[in-house]
Amino acid sequence: MVNKLNELTCRVCGKIQDNPPWGENGQCPTYDICDCCGVEFGYGDCTLNAIRAFREQWLANGSHWKYPKEKPANWSLEVQLKQIPEEYK
Ligand SMILES: [Zn+2]
Repeated sequence: MVNKLNELTCRVCGKIQDNPPWGENGQCPTYDICDCCGVEFGYGDCTLNAIRAFREQWLANGSHWKYPKEKPANWSLEVQLKQIPEEYK
């Protein structure tokens, strides 16, 4: 089942992106950098192990935004983590 929202979600941190990080078909990564966790789509999130390792590191380092000016005033780490698609948790 295709879930549009999942396609837009960073697999590492759960941030909803403007463009699908892995392309419309989920096969063509953009190699963009997530504003939030700083992962490079198609590289740092290419396997489940890589995703989990990156997330663990990011959380351990204080879950800082890569580009803090993009951070919404009402941002909640807890809410965002819940957006991570089930298969990438
Ligand atoms: Zn992210």
